Amino acid sequence: MDMQFGPKEETLRTEVRSFLQSTLKDRPDGESRSDEEFEFAKGFNAELGKRGWIAPAWPKEYGGLGASIYEQMVFNEEFGYYNAPDTGTRGFGVGMIGPTLIIHGNEEQKKRYLPRITSGEDIWCQGYSEPGAGSDLASLQTRAVRDGDEYVINGQKIWTSGGHRANQMFCLVRTDPDAPKHRGISFLLIDDIKNQQGLQLRPLINMANRHHFNEVFFEDVRVPAQNLIGEENRGWYVGMTLLDFERSGIGTTAAQKHTLENLTERLRGSSDDVRKKYRTKLADLAVANGVGRYLGYRIGYIQASGRVPNYEASVVKIYQSELGQKIYNFGISMLGLAGQYRPEQENAPLGGMMSEQYMLAVPSTIYSGSNEIQRNVIATRGLGLPRG
Ligand SMILES: Cc1cc2nc3c(=O)[nH]c(=O)nc-3n(C[C@H](O)[C@H](O)[C@H](O)COP(=O)(O)OP(=O)(O)OC[C@H]3O[C@@H](n4cnc5c(N)ncnc54)[C@H](O)[C@@H]3O)c2cc1C
Repeated sequence: MDMQFGPKEETLRTEVRSFLQSTLKDRPDGESRSDEEFEFAKGFNAELGKRGWIAPAWPKEYGGLGASIYEQMVFNEEFGYYNAPDTGTRGFGVGMIGPTLIIHGNEEQKKRYLPRITSGEDIWCQGYSEPGAGSDLASLQTRAVRDGDEYVINGQKIWTSGGHRANQMFCLVRTDPDAPKHRGISFLLIDDIKNQQGLQLRPLINMANRHHFNEVFFEDVRVPAQNLIGEENRGWYVGMTLLDFERSGIGTTAAQKHTLENLTERLRGSSDDVRKKYRTKLADLAVANGVGRYLGYRIGYIQASGRVPNYEASVVKIYQSELGQKIYNFGISMLGLAGQYRPEQENAPLGGMMSEQYMLAVPSTIYSGSNEIQRNVIATRGLGLPRG
């Protein structure tokens, strides 16, 4: 059995694929998220914006194409396969804050922010985690106090991916310290973060030696009260809608498929003994990747039926992230010593992307809700087991 989308989606796939092949052929390679790569990603997103391809599934009034979930999946799959670059517009903008605004924002907020996402103009980052609040996010302590028409924010966020590139931040802040912890949180947007007085970003360098995320410090940062999304002290529920959207990507599986194809190609040209050593393991991973694809389609089906994926998305998150670690680990050993070469190094096999992907895959079982937390979700919401 080979499940396929309908003719409309497959025609779209051909169009998206040829656009990506021609647009990405001159992309800068080397260090991921370098300044050069970032500038390229900005131009790329602007091109997508002109076509309505940044958020195709959104309604036309907000700059989308009103595309179906299946059409959106075609985009995501092709973007994942071709490793389409992003600035934070598609990941955080379309994947996270956009859907939240569509559901919880007022008309003014939707009109203000959504078109700036679909044009590629705004680059968003997520201010959720704090030094003492990660998995137990509701323990967050960053405080926002209402002062006339503004909120005054004090505290600290951490692990803010792409914060140094972003101009916009959505964050969770504590507005009622006396309420039970889930009920005293609000969801705020901070505009123009680079020019916010009292907001300071400090770089955190990841294990791949890249400046990926940041610490963010707030000292009397003033935000207009109109930037509150939903009701004051109800932000936890606003934020949780957002997490449910974050867990439904199919692009990851397509990216893994591309890596496996590259490795297969490489193995084909290897000596007999190397082929014998690695081929059954490679076959296992290809089978596992196919399973991941169908798990992803299941999420699409749930969304296309008008439901929000719940524990099913946790299944996908665990599966994709753990499979990714296995694939890149395998790739490193199959390529031998040179598998460890970085993209900056000459003669790095497969452009040095194996070592890069290997290191990027390590935190994938931590972010977007760690895999232990996802297993708790499956146990309680999926299997109906009692908490604790
Ligand atoms: C690459 C990367 C990018 C990130 N980007 C962002 C970002 O842009 N914005 C943002 O806000 N945050 C971001 N994060 C933070 C991420 O959301 C947190 O790291 C994550 O929620 C885990 O929190 P923690 O690191 O505080 O670990 P902790 O919550 O302290 O967990 C430590 C360990 O204990 C386990 N654990 C905790 N509670 C339980 C439990 N109840 N049951 C079983 N096991 C448990 C965890 O699974 C983990 O293994 C990013 C993280 C990474 C790694």
